[in-house]
Amino acid sequence: MRLDRFLANLPHCSHRQARLLLASGQVQVNGQAVRDGTCDIRVFDHVSLEGQTLQAGKAARFIMLHKPTGCVSATSDPQHPTVLDLLDEPDKAELHIAGRLDFNTTGLLIITNDGLWSRRLTQPESLLGKTYRVETEDPIDPICIERFAQGLYFRFENLTTRPAQLEILGPHLARLTLHEGRYHQVKRMFGHFNNKVTRLHRERMGPLTLDPQLQPGQYRALTPAEIALT
Ligand code: URA
Repeated sequence: MRLDRFLANLPHCSHRQARLLLASGQVQVNGQAVRDGTCDIRVFDHVSLEGQTLQAGKAARFIMLHKPTGCVSATSDPQHPTVLDLLDEPDKAELHIAGRLDFNTTGLLIITNDGLWSRRLTQPESLLGKTYRVETEDPIDPICIERFAQGLYFRFENLTTRPAQLEILGPHLARLTLHEGRYHQVKRMFGHFNNKVTRLHRERMGPLTLDPQLQPGQYRALTPAEIALT
């Protein structure tokens, strides 16, 4: 919400008074005087007037989880454990998952209550790469390098995938970087070459790399430096 609207919503504060308060320099957002009424106020911001707190600001939460196999990237599921069941945290209902992984995919999963931040990480427009380690049933055909880089046509969605970078690490092992997140995308890309993905693990999302200290099922808070990277 705009700061001028936020102020005008206060009891006994008209739009004119809100403008005057802003001009006086007595309104602070996160400790900084703000005179621009168009400034966007979020639930995470601390807002004060003449030193009195108007909004305390909710704590933004950012969690890095090493997702194990056998759980669903969802906030609830009638049949299976979810990734939220792995968290010993309060107020889990306010958390969401930034970029899901399939039931048997392992690796980096980010969970947060900050939708603006998570959109920056997951929106295809931000062009941030997501890197996966892929194991396959059959040997990986080197032609995949070129074809993934060109983009593959997905008939169901009538779209061509964005250029993806494939690095072959062994006959059945590769590292693949995507710049979007289509449904079962990695499996479908290898499926295009009749090769089944037997293990899939996400190593990285944009600037965030899975902490090697985290065992499957373990998690930790992102550091302020990691949060600032996105
Ligand atoms: N692509 C897939 O096929 N599965 C995932 O979990 C992630 C990307």
